[in-house]
Amino acid sequence: MKKPTVLFLIICFGIGILSYYYFSEGNEPEAFYSVTTNTKLEMIRNDLAELKADLKKKGKYNCCIKNDCSWCAIYMGHCPCEDLVSRKGSEKSCPECAAAWNKKQGKIPGIDPDAIQVTTFGVFGLEKEGHHHPD
Ligand SMILES: [Zn+2]
Ligand SMILES: [Zn+2]
Repeated sequence: MKKPTVLFLIICFGIGILSYYYFSEGNEPEAFYSVTTNTKLEMIRNDLAELKADLKKKGKYNCCIKNDCSWCAIYMGHCPCEDLVSRKGSEKSCPECAAAWNKKQGKIPGIDPDAIQVTTFGVFGLEKEGHHHPD
């Protein structure tokens, strides 16, 4: 083989490897769920989707991950995660958002996923003093 041909093949191979890692980064391991026909659960999901859409319209749902979290809607009625992950040096978010960032599924550019600390906002009283502190 001529030298340029070999070089071309090496470049193609390199691009292939790089794009494999790039595109598989946010992927999850395959896992399965069973579809439920529980009507109460269906109602909760629909209500939750409606609530989140409504809060978003009012500017009260500013999430930081590709699929807006549900944790903040359920426990707090608003989502402050976009603001909280953007605070350089004290990045934090709810458990759902932190887990998504861990899988590189965040949507805010320039955030270091490894810097994000999980907080439950005092909802469960898990902080140092064990107090609940609703805002
Ligand atoms: Zn978020
Ligand atoms: Zn959240």
